[in-house]
Amino acid sequence: MTGAERTGRASEAHGDSPPPAIDARDLELTYGDGTTAVDGVDLRVPRGEFFGFLGPNGAGKTTTIKVFATLLSPTAGDVRVNGFDVRSESRAVRETIGYMAQETSVDPELTARENVRYACEAYGVPRGERAERTSELLDLVDLVDVADKRAEEFSGGMKKRLDAATALVHRPPLVFLDEPTTGLDPKARNRLWDYFRRINDRGTTIFLTTQYLDEADQLCDRLAVILDGEIVADGTPDELKRRVGGEVLDVELALEEGTDVRERAARIAREFEEFDDAAVSTTEDGIAVTAANARQHGPDLLVALRDAGLAVIGFNVRSPTLDDVFLAITGEELELDRAEAPAEGVTR
Ligand code: ATP
Repeated sequence: MTGAERTGRASEAHGDSPPPAIDARDLELTYGDGTTAVDGVDLRVPRGEFFGFLGPNGAGKTTTIKVFATLLSPTAGDVRVNGFDVRSESRAVRETIGYMAQETSVDPELTARENVRYACEAYGVPRGERAERTSELLDLVDLVDVADKRAEEFSGGMKKRLDAATALVHRPPLVFLDEPTTGLDPKARNRLWDYFRRINDRGTTIFLTTQYLDEADQLCDRLAVILDGEIVADGTPDELKRRVGGEVLDVELALEEGTDVRERAARIAREFEEFDDAAVSTTEDGIAVTAANARQHGPDLLVALRDAGLAVIGFNVRSPTLDDVFLAITGEELELDRAEAPAEGVTR
């Protein structure tokens, strides 16, 4: 039975409207050593949505994906994926999902074409359809020109694109992408984004985890933020930004080695009475103040900083970004790996 047929059968069981891609209620996962990685997560992702799952390292993102992909069995809760129960119908779940894990599953000894052909075999794509399916997917991820080169020659971005193609050989209606662009340079990330948009445009539901908030902002229809195993916020990117409220005043300061210029400035901003409910944080080159009236009273703060002997080099007032949302929710900036240069070898 194909994935589509199985999904069809699942929708019949739910009446006229097809079941959501993901329906998790009170999901809990405690590892053998007693670590509760996911603690009462409720999540519903409708079909066709591009959904983003954000959180700092260790928040529980990969554990949640592994439960949805039936690699881990939930300790408690009710989880249905494409209408199927992850415990009792795990096979049907696996047939209707694609999973691109953090570690690439590409075999470096094989060519791009062989990697996809091998995945077709593993996923039971009928023999007569494999060649065409392989060509179609290599075309989709722009690897036709290098289809017969061994994957060991590929850059990090190319390997990721190949990996994404192998996750789709059985045309799953739902794909999990676990930090698919971590460590890639901006150009390689952009190419992957195009590809993800294309598969979502074709109707595939996407569940993405990422460390890059601009990535989530660009791609996702809706987001949820997980912290210590619990969902602490969810909504569209714009809704989340509006929730932060107000505007952000970035102040750039003349930093001197061995002094605590940023901390002193942050203290002054926190004690500054004109701001309503200000959130103040230190940044790479100064401080950021988020407040409803940041624009109105920004100049007064600059005067106060100058009076305290701090040299202001520049300032800017802007709307909140997802980074500000993250900071407001979790109290910490999302830790980013530096983007690596592409690997030696074939680069495109
Ligand atoms: P990252 O971005 O670092 O991958 P994450 O949000 O995906 O983080 P998880 O990998 O799901 O987080 O980890 C959630 C929690 O579960 C962490 O405290 C982690 O140390 C713990 N954990 C993960 N795998 C195991 C395991 N096999 N046994 C015990 N604890 C684990």
